Amino acid sequence: MAYDPDNVFAKILRGEIPCNKVYEDAHTLAFHDINPQTPTHILVVPKGAYVSWTDFSETASDAEIAALVRAVATVAKEAGVAEQGYRVLSNVGVNANQEVPHLHIHVFAGRKLGRMVP
Ligand code: C5P
Repeated sequence: MAYDPDNVFAKILRGEIPCNKVYEDAHTLAFHDINPQTPTHILVVPKGAYVSWTDFSETASDAEIAALVRAVATVAKEAGVAEQGYRVLSNVGVNANQEVPHLHIHVFAGRKLGRMVP
């Protein structure tokens, strides 16, 4: 899928739409989900123009990939949920109901989560 530069996360990354930021580095931005599904619900987003894991794995630099993975762990630790546990989830494509066509990782935490079912 071609990248849509007007998707909502692209606008957040350009500063055109506000977000409740929790973490930022050269390659990654993390912010609270606007419609949280758990007491802690953070989105971790690469700054580059990637829709899917295919795009990201094929075209992102090793530094960008490492930054995204490390950002998830940093965000969980800084949110104080690393010890109790959390869930990492990423929706890609139509079958997964991806709403925003910019790659992102959900971090769910803050309560006992249900068993993961497809
Ligand atoms: O994985 P999916 O694409 O379905 O999730 C998109 C997420 O982006 C939703 O959880 C939605 O609440 C969140 N969102 C947001 N801020 C926006 C628009 C969407 O946090 N301005």
